[in-house]
Amino acid sequence: AKQHGKNNFQIFSYSKDITSYKKYVLEKDMRKAIDKQEFELYYQPQVETNTGVIRGAEALIRWHHAEWGLVSPGEFIPLAEENHLINHIGDWVIQKVCSQLREWKDNGYSLRPISINVSPIRFMKKGLVDLVKTELEKHNIPAKYLEIEITESSLLKNEKNVLAALEGLKSLGVKIAIDDFGTGYASLNYLREFDADTIKIDQIFIQNITADNKKDTAIISSVLHLAKGLEMKVIAEGVEEYEQLEFLKQNECDEIQGYLFSKPVPLDTYEQMLQTGYIK
Ligand code: C2E
Ligand code: CA
Ligand code: CA
Ligand code: CA
Repeated sequence: AKQHGKNNFQIFSYSKDITSYKKYVLEKDMRKAIDKQEFELYYQPQVETNTGVIRGAEALIRWHHAEWGLVSPGEFIPLAEENHLINHIGDWVIQKVCSQLREWKDNGYSLRPISINVSPIRFMKKGLVDLVKTELEKHNIPAKYLEIEITESSLLKNEKNVLAALEGLKSLGVKIAIDDFGTGYASLNYLREFDADTIKIDQIFIQNITADNKKDTAIISSVLHLAKGLEMKVIAEGVEEYEQLEFLKQNECDEIQGYLFSKPVPLDTYEQMLQTGYIK
């Protein structure tokens, strides 16, 4: 409850108080979380549809909060975007992934690309391309091992700075993936214009394969067909069931990312998977 004036009480529900309190604490603690080394990257393998061979992974951030344990990115990334701490966090992710790639290289792993999520907020701020360039050079990593995911909906905003940064990244040789494809209603023209390397079909469409939703399966087949024509790679996200995998095999989807093969895992588990090189 919060006091208003002298004898007027405004009553909040208990859960609402908790939520805004949590939000307040998370926001406050987020500022120190990098220095306190509370962030960690998990890796979710992306496998070749027909063979299960690991082609790369998406890096997904995790926050180990001192009191609350694991806080999901779905909860704190939107907050970080509101207060622009996402720029700080996002730059940490870029540095971390580049130094990780270097470590794999030094330890004799054959390199496989890592995709990272970059917020539209970061895309609109200056210096993204320079940072990526500096980090790749510092660790002597060929740019093609880094892929940057940008959501379809942030592309649609058609911001000048976003487009300039995308061009800059592409000229470095960094790969570009369109994330959550199908949720932002991008036109086919957009796909041509951005000349992205990869399309990631959003998990909502994949789930509806099992639901036998004729419209969604038609959308997936046409996206796959179109992507082939434009020489883009397609990754299906959120694949959880064999039936979905079968459909994606039949429709020649290049790669799969989903719980059916693996959840996002900590570094040492991902490295164990790389020893075998495929997931069955
Ligand atoms: P996203 O980029 O769409 O990432 C995919 C999300 O789907 C991940 O959730 C992943 O764990 C989950 N997922 C993968 N396979 C399956 C599956 O088979 N079934 C189901 N139900 N879910 C699956 P996660 O790790 O909780 O991340 C949520 C979102 O947070 C991400 O969605 C992304 O938008 C954001 N995020 C995560 N890490 C970062 C980061 O480093 N930077 C930024 N800017 N955003 C991040
Ligand atoms: Ca993503
Ligand atoms: Ca996604
Ligand atoms: Ca998403």
